[in-house]
Amino acid sequence: MTIDPANPLVFLVGAGPGSPGLMTVRGAEVLSRADLVLYDQLVPERLLDLAPAHAVRMCVRDLPGSHPDKYPHIHKTLIETASAGKTVVRLKGGDPLIFGRGGEEAEALRAAGLAYEIVPGVTAALAAGAFLEIPLTHRMHSSAIALVTGHELPSKPGNKLDWKAIAAFPGTLAIYMGIARLPVIAAELLRYGKPADTPAAIVERASTGDQRSAYATLGTLEEVRRQAGLEAPGLILIGETVAHRSERPWFEGRPLFGQRVLVTRPAHQAEGMVRKLEHLGAVVSRLPAVEIRDVSDPARMDRALGQLREGHWNWLVFTSANGVHALLRRLDAIGRDLRDLGGVKLAAIGPKTAEVLREYRLRADVVPDTTFSSEGLAAALKPHVTGQRVLLARANRGRELLRNELAQVTTVEQVTVYDQVDVTAPEGSVLDALRRGEVRFVTLPSSNIARGVLAAFDETINGRIERGEIKLVAISPETGNAVRALGYPVAAEATTFTEDGLIEAVLALASQK
Ligand code: SAH
Repeated sequence: MTIDPANPLVFLVGAGPGSPGLMTVRGAEVLSRADLVLYDQLVPERLLDLAPAHAVRMCVRDLPGSHPDKYPHIHKTLIETASAGKTVVRLKGGDPLIFGRGGEEAEALRAAGLAYEIVPGVTAALAAGAFLEIPLTHRMHSSAIALVTGHELPSKPGNKLDWKAIAAFPGTLAIYMGIARLPVIAAELLRYGKPADTPAAIVERASTGDQRSAYATLGTLEEVRRQAGLEAPGLILIGETVAHRSERPWFEGRPLFGQRVLVTRPAHQAEGMVRKLEHLGAVVSRLPAVEIRDVSDPARMDRALGQLREGHWNWLVFTSANGVHALLRRLDAIGRDLRDLGGVKLAAIGPKTAEVLREYRLRADVVPDTTFSSEGLAAALKPHVTGQRVLLARANRGRELLRNELAQVTTVEQVTVYDQVDVTAPEGSVLDALRRGEVRFVTLPSSNIARGVLAAFDETINGRIERGEIKLVAISPETGNAVRALGYPVAAEATTFTEDGLIEAVLALASQK
């Protein structure tokens, strides 16, 4: 293989401290062309969605050996993959060169004669500063910041840290990997004269919805940590500036801060909703119970597309964003284009579906004003379609209401343009979180998804729903009815039947307390 230094195949990328939005644009760019993503355990899993579908996602946890013995395997994996001409993204928490052994990985690549690029990331200390509103430097109180590892025992022979010098450091100390050794670290700093009343803080999972922190002084930090139940991994901040923090950091004031919300949309459609919820401070888990697939036999769809071209149908009606994508994807796949839809009028069940039409530069002629459901669409369409030929593009399963209603006034046919398939084995870790009572809200964006999700629940989870510890939130009364028909209580129904409406319903419940 020839090596082109301008086009490296290995990227050491900083994933940031936990909030997926904190990875750099360059990081996202290179992830989007990865063949292999080799990621650390602390990396936010959602970032893996940015890699292409074909990419192999491998966690270093699954490489042989326990922690320090993994490095030869990591190096070998990077080198072998790149030598085979594939693009590898080595995704590391925070910044790759800050306590992440990124330097050693780069060294191994250099030794192997491979070109690489290093993409920096937001390191934990910077995230703690921003998300806890602790000014890391301060004109009056701190003119420097030191990033220190707490991993080395001060008594260890060959220990490189000079705790005397660190105690005398004239600024903020950010100590990584130090929680387990906090008593020794504090004792060492005190021994070398750092005042016991120096303000200090500990933060876990900074920048995520479950960030937790505790404030004390150097002298009381370990005791306060124990009381607050904060554990490794976490960051210790010591210095005058800690006292100049905001009592209520902006992030912790977000309306869903710390609330765990389950998003159940199919994987490729969850992104927007997950982002919005995270932005509101929520900790989001995902449980896709239904997948969207192309229809297995497109013959019927192709016939309908032919009829559209020939002007057989006056109206084409979409009841989901998926339907729009699926139909237009197929149109393209058979070598046709939008001009085939030139003579037909378009209807969309709600704003989201209409918006997806707009992505194709198509405008819906009819969208219900307020009720984004089959009922609403039937009512909105009826005055327009009497005596006309109407084609409904829909999923392989769903309600018959729209067809039945329109059939009273006109000729209607349905064509299945995509399949909804149950995902048989939903992810165990999310179900465990539900069993342990860690999830507070389960969002249900359609009846089908609700049925799929609820089928995956066991007695323990159902018990928590019964007792109101887990709240089921439905996108519409129709979905609510589907949930109740299965014997479950519905905590709230959206009043606007959209993703935003669903989030509004969660917000309303969360504010009730
Ligand atoms: N390369 C990473 C650090 C890796 S060492 C970076 O630049 O941030 C792992 C240590 O980083 C943890 O033990 C903890 O001390 C700290 N850390 C990483 N993410 C953190 C977060 N979100 N909140 C608090 N500490 C974090």
